[in-house]
Amino acid sequence: MSAIPDLAAIEAMDAADPLRSMRDRFILPKGVIYLDGNSLGAASHAVFDELQKASTQEWAQDLIRAWNTAGWFDTPTTLGDQLGRLIGAAAGQTVVCDTTSINIYKVLHAALAMRPDRSVIVAEGDSFPTDLYMAEGVASTRPGAVLRLEGVDAPSIEELIDERVAVILVNHVNYKSGELRDMVALTRRAHEVGALIVWDLCHTAGALPVELDRANADFAVGCTYKYLNGGPGAPAFIYAAKRHLAEVRQPLSGWWGHARPFAFERGYVAGTGIRRFLCGTQPILSMRALKGALDIWDDVDMAALRKKSIALTDLFIQLVEAKCGAFGLTLESTRDGSRRGSQVSFLHDHGYQVMRALIDRGVIGDFRAPSTIRFGFTPLYVSYRDVWQAVEVLEDILRTGAWKDPRFATKEAVT
Ligand SMILES: *Cc1c(COP(=O)(O)O)cnc(C)c1O
Repeated sequence: MSAIPDLAAIEAMDAADPLRSMRDRFILPKGVIYLDGNSLGAASHAVFDELQKASTQEWAQDLIRAWNTAGWFDTPTTLGDQLGRLIGAAAGQTVVCDTTSINIYKVLHAALAMRPDRSVIVAEGDSFPTDLYMAEGVASTRPGAVLRLEGVDAPSIEELIDERVAVILVNHVNYKSGELRDMVALTRRAHEVGALIVWDLCHTAGALPVELDRANADFAVGCTYKYLNGGPGAPAFIYAAKRHLAEVRQPLSGWWGHARPFAFERGYVAGTGIRRFLCGTQPILSMRALKGALDIWDDVDMAALRKKSIALTDLFIQLVEAKCGAFGLTLESTRDGSRRGSQVSFLHDHGYQVMRALIDRGVIGDFRAPSTIRFGFTPLYVSYRDVWQAVEVLEDILRTGAWKDPRFATKEAVT
């Protein structure tokens, strides 16, 4: 094992960081080390500028005309194309709309309908729960449909894939452990048996380079309020490969997905292209906030982002194990940076209290039941010095037992 870097070495890493200047674009409170951008990304000046423009100029002054004059009506697809560049999607295949949960429903239902002679949906037992809840909802609309779950029906997802499978819903990065799946290999495996695959990119969009087109993926969904920094409840996205766009039918057949929404026709006719995944009127102010957040990415080299992400997470693991090894922490994430998203998780028997104590001291990560303490590393605004400082605080809390303070034991609504 290489020697533990000292503070001087860590400051040299910051000085040499090609993404260093990105931090100035974000608004971070003083005294806070923010390691929860994997749950809610930080605010940026660009987001507030766009919000200001969309509200005080376009809405207040242009009123209804802004749907045309400010391009509001096309925002879901213009933003979709802008976001598509970050996930390896050529133009015309990505649309920004609704929430991830709703988009999972639309896409999974649509994919199942494309395989009418098959009845199995494969997913992960330890998936983020809403993915499973929505899959249950989709399965309940098709008589005979069944869910097969990794970790329940077989140890690995590969063992669940056969000719009866219609669609596989899988997380690119597991929200708890941070484990990264091989998109190319699993997509190929799905296609070998004639199944479709839906990738959930909630923990990879903006966290690392994603290559949907190159992997030959069928569909993807993801959210924009985590690593993409679109703001609380920012609209999510859907990707559908061009080859499916003519035949795919989603179930929420609202007027925004209609071929001619302003003809006010009686019957539903699905629109052409990715717009058919829309349902109703979209939250334009939230969309414009997201535009500000996405504009920042025009200047980001995704290879440099990935390199820094691995370096930050490697450093965190190394420092925690060296300084906090004696205090009951177990690494939950893989040690192999190439198979890890931009987060590190540790298990601790009193993880909830430890995280509350950390937050009390300005080191913000989060807790996932039953015992995971989770730290997200957003390469755009987290420095190597932040990593160092966070571990200093963690070591102090564990060594002194500061987490045992009873005020850290009461559960809050959102963890
Ligand atoms: C964050 C997250 C969601 C969130 O879904 P919402 O509909 O935005 O609440 C869904 N799936 C995964 C894997 C997530 O990480």
